[in-house]
Amino acid sequence: MEKADTPLQEVHAKIARACKASRREPQDIALIAVSKTHPAESILPLLKLGHRVFGENRVQEAQGKWPALRDAYPDVELHLIGQLQSNKADEAVALFDCIHALDRPGLVTALAKAMDKAQRRVPCFIQVNIGSEEQKGGCAIADLPDLIAQVRAVEIPIAGLMCIPPADIEPAPFFALLAKLAADNGLTGLSMGMSGDYETAVMLGATHVRVGTALFGARPALK
Ligand SMILES: *Cc1c(COP(=O)(O)O)cnc(C)c1O
Repeated sequence: MEKADTPLQEVHAKIARACKASRREPQDIALIAVSKTHPAESILPLLKLGHRVFGENRVQEAQGKWPALRDAYPDVELHLIGQLQSNKADEAVALFDCIHALDRPGLVTALAKAMDKAQRRVPCFIQVNIGSEEQKGGCAIADLPDLIAQVRAVEIPIAGLMCIPPADIEPAPFFALLAKLAADNGLTGLSMGMSGDYETAVMLGATHVRVGTALFGARPALK
């Protein structure tokens, strides 16, 4: 009997298919396995399969889980994908290899200070509030050029733009808009696409997809 594909193989296969449809190369897309809420026991199987790129949305939770996993797998690359409070900038800079939710001037200042202190430059995606939703994080589209200029002035490496489109409507127009904003501002990285829409995101130029549920199953409800 043939062994069933693992979720990791399935996600890779879907990324490959989306690449083929859009004439892209799978090696140009980083799959970030979003392990938030999942314990080390759930993460280890992926590490054993050779996967090394992971995403967490809370500094404190990541601090609890990752140091030990990193001792065993030193080449892990850890992405912070969630909102970051300025008072956690030092901790975030120490722990993460990439930060995806840089979205306001105060945080730029805090991260620049933290990076100077740690003598470590951590690449950051600038999060854009692509659907102009009041309750969502991300910088307003109109404020993006100023924020990019501020980030460049303090020499934080910009990885690209990141977005979370509005829930429950077709995400493609928002992905396309993010790609256009990146191109207009001379940026190449695009962090977009989650379990429900990463194939669409790949076809519209995503360089980083953030996939949790499709790899780990449903998350326990948040407290
Ligand atoms: C949780 C989360 C994801 C992953 O979501 P899934 O639907 O489980 O793939 C991606 N991006 C961000 C910012 C998240 O918080």
